Amino acid sequence: MINTKKMKYYYIATMGCQMNEYDSDSIGSILQGQGLLSTESPDKADLIIINTCTVREKADQKAFSLLGRMIIIKKKRSNIVLGMMGCIAQQEGRALLKKFPELDLVIGTREKGNISSMLDRIVNNGERIAATDISLTSIHNFKHSEVFFKGRIKSNLSIMEGCNNFCSYCIVPYVRGREESRPQEDIVKEAKMLVKQGVKEITLLGQNVNSYSAGKGGKVKFPELLKNIAEIEGLHRIRFTTSHPKDLSDDLINAFIEIEKLCQHMHLPFQSGSDRILKLMNRKYTSKEYMRLVSMLRDINPGFSITSDVIVGFPGESEDDFKKTLDLIEKIEFDNLFSFKYSDRKGTKAAEMPDKLDETEKASRLKTLQDLQKEKTLLRNKRLEGKTEEVLVDGLSKLGTQYSGRTGTNKIINFNSDTNVIGDIVKVKVNRAFINSLNGELLI
Ligand code: SF4
Repeated sequence: MINTKKMKYYYIATMGCQMNEYDSDSIGSILQGQGLLSTESPDKADLIIINTCTVREKADQKAFSLLGRMIIIKKKRSNIVLGMMGCIAQQEGRALLKKFPELDLVIGTREKGNISSMLDRIVNNGERIAATDISLTSIHNFKHSEVFFKGRIKSNLSIMEGCNNFCSYCIVPYVRGREESRPQEDIVKEAKMLVKQGVKEITLLGQNVNSYSAGKGGKVKFPELLKNIAEIEGLHRIRFTTSHPKDLSDDLINAFIEIEKLCQHMHLPFQSGSDRILKLMNRKYTSKEYMRLVSMLRDINPGFSITSDVIVGFPGESEDDFKKTLDLIEKIEFDNLFSFKYSDRKGTKAAEMPDKLDETEKASRLKTLQDLQKEKTLLRNKRLEGKTEEVLVDGLSKLGTQYSGRTGTNKIINFNSDTNVIGDIVKVKVNRAFINSLNGELLI
């Protein structure tokens, strides 16, 4: 139990992916259950936690620069507790305590459930703790607070953690451990708890949700889990991320026909259009197989939204390999693409590979690819002009002058309304399409 006389406010800075957002929410939920209050200001906080990402070099730099700023605060108020969690914490472990004497706590990716006892030891015994042994803890050894998510329209829910794939460029299997799926009953219970607090859309999370496997003998697979979650009354939409193409089964593709609440969108990373590079990446599919999966999804619905990740400038990527990636983008017409320059991650196979490309070449390829994708995104969005979309309204537009929400295909749409429609599901006619958003009119 945390001594709330010594500790009242907590501040969590979250970097990286939705899994980190979920982990920060989980810690926040536990802390609030113990009587702590959240603050947006680190200067006011008694507990500061930085939830880090190490997927790319830039993310590392961002985390350490933020740590530097938090250390300045700690130097002024030495009684506060300063912690780091997430992938950098898992990777560096105790070494972080040695390097940064101001740091009190390093929380590994599977240790969030033990936050209260760790804080107790720090505050009452003056200990400094690094808890990063993945083999010691299972992924979900805690209970959420029953009120933490009140007022939210959308929420994430982790169904599994870890990854067995070892793509040659990726650090995740080393920092998140091997795949471990949560029991179906726990997930359904958590989904019901979220819906009870007002959540209308849930995004199921995992490093590779397609290989979800739980129950006796691993009998419960992902499509069955989706069906059971879809039965929850009051839940309107289900999404999931991330999917690995090699594990995308026919059953899962059929789930998009059978389950009405399942949004017509899939994030399906392809990484490269060249089979030679895919092999070096250890992705275990070919570009042809990838394209077959996409056409099965678009056969269900031509408007089915496909977003993806691609890496530019992988070691040894030739002009011809890069051209194959551009060809694939041309053919598939992704709705959106998250594109990155390759960067070495220490400890991965790709970091040891020869024929690294120089930064200028990588940057130039990235620009060519992004220019092409912008055309494709606009093209896909323009096809929606004149159509009516079902929209879950989640707030105001960036400028604050209109209401804003997401279509089932996960596109942002802004529109005017005389009444407050935040939290509602409404019909909006698309009038104009841009690269990053749509604009429309509310239909009564
Ligand atoms: S599937 Fe590959 S890219 Fe995704 S987390 Fe696992 S190793 Fe990393």
